[in-house]
Amino acid sequence: GKPKVVVIGGGPGGGTAARYIAKESNGAIDVTLIEPQKTFTTCFFSNLYVGGFRDYKSLTHNYDKVKKSGVKVVHAVATAIDRDKKQVVIAGGQRIPYDRLLVAPGIDLKFDSVPGYSEAAAEIMPHAWKPGAQTQLLVKKLNALKDGDQIVMIAPPNPYRCPPGPYERVSMFAHVLKKKGYKKSRIIVLDPKPNFSKQAVFAEGWENHYPGMIEWQDPKMHGGIKGVDAKAGTVKTDLADYKAALVNVIPAQWAGKIARDANLTNASGYCPIDAASMKSTVDPNIFVVGDASIAGEMPKSAFSANSQAKVAAMIIRSELTQSRAFPARYSNTCWSLIAPDDDIKVGASYEPKDGAIKATSTFVSQKNEAADLRKQNYKESVDWYNGITADIFG
Ligand code: FAD
Repeated sequence: GKPKVVVIGGGPGGGTAARYIAKESNGAIDVTLIEPQKTFTTCFFSNLYVGGFRDYKSLTHNYDKVKKSGVKVVHAVATAIDRDKKQVVIAGGQRIPYDRLLVAPGIDLKFDSVPGYSEAAAEIMPHAWKPGAQTQLLVKKLNALKDGDQIVMIAPPNPYRCPPGPYERVSMFAHVLKKKGYKKSRIIVLDPKPNFSKQAVFAEGWENHYPGMIEWQDPKMHGGIKGVDAKAGTVKTDLADYKAALVNVIPAQWAGKIARDANLTNASGYCPIDAASMKSTVDPNIFVVGDASIAGEMPKSAFSANSQAKVAAMIIRSELTQSRAFPARYSNTCWSLIAPDDDIKVGASYEPKDGAIKATSTFVSQKNEAADLRKQNYKESVDWYNGITADIFG
């Protein structure tokens, strides 16, 4: 029969790969996508929902067109990968055989990286770093704040999904408070890192739009994050105690469980890949793309996942149908909205070099840029969202 490809995870990585393999092989390859959720809510642009720039529904996509493009979609959790037999086991025990497997489960959160934090505590102190109910809880809590209430964010350590994401979210918190005319509320960011993505431009934007509202602390300033008490609504650092009406805890992260269970990860908790193909370095029949992979200098973003998925799809097709493969090229851009029409960006083109994915050219927004340029960035980001969601979901 036809060669079989199985894809685990219907997000930017897996969704893109499944559709590209099905479409571009013109039915010569049997493609099965395993994804438990019937609808996918994007984390990307969820900060714009937080800021009130988009509604929740606009972040939600279904798999109808994926099915129409020739992909067989199985709504189930993949519970194990039997690498010897080349089969994926799904909940209920059914086995789905593959010739090539693409694994794109995204990240899992390491709740215990912040003492006192847990899945239960997240019902009070949302992380909102996985989409869905968590994002809605965060927004509900934000909108219920009264003037004078504090927000504390615990930012994540590297490497994590969406490097500028926490700081765009802080900007959106501030935008909401400012719009309500609040003068007394403060936002405190406790960061385990000494610096972060686009820091200089974020800092300038915060000073321009929200003077005195946001206090970012590096490890030298807070001395260390000691933990949270969700019921009491408190956060402790080495140097201070905080009581906050909204605590947003973004813990450390690693590759989704299925990738870890199948031993596709290394000591870092993420999956090493071959830079020229996105093929797992531990199993020649498996590819890993997106947040679960170690993609050299590429950040963990939907843009990156989509770009990596296209390379993997091309290599998989070439291996199974002898179609032509071209040298791997990757790209990424991450936009962040600081305030209405004030959007900054960072991005790069990448190629495999000396065994790793390395940037060949990069760009980043500068301080003091013209308002027009920032407004243009925002428009670009909206076009990108429409383009990438069509690429993933049809
Ligand atoms: P995911 O999107 O996590 O998809 C993984 C899928 O796999 C999920 O649907 C899950 O249900 C499924 N899955 C997991 N385990 C299994 C299993 N065992 N069996 C079957 N299915 C499974 N990126 C950008 O490019 N631009 C942005 O502006 C941006 N903003 C962001 C803002 C925030 C607040 C956050 C949190 C993230 C942002 N990102 C952004 C990052 C982006 O959301 C992720 O990088 C992207 O979703 C990664 O795609 P992925 O396919 O690797 O994983």
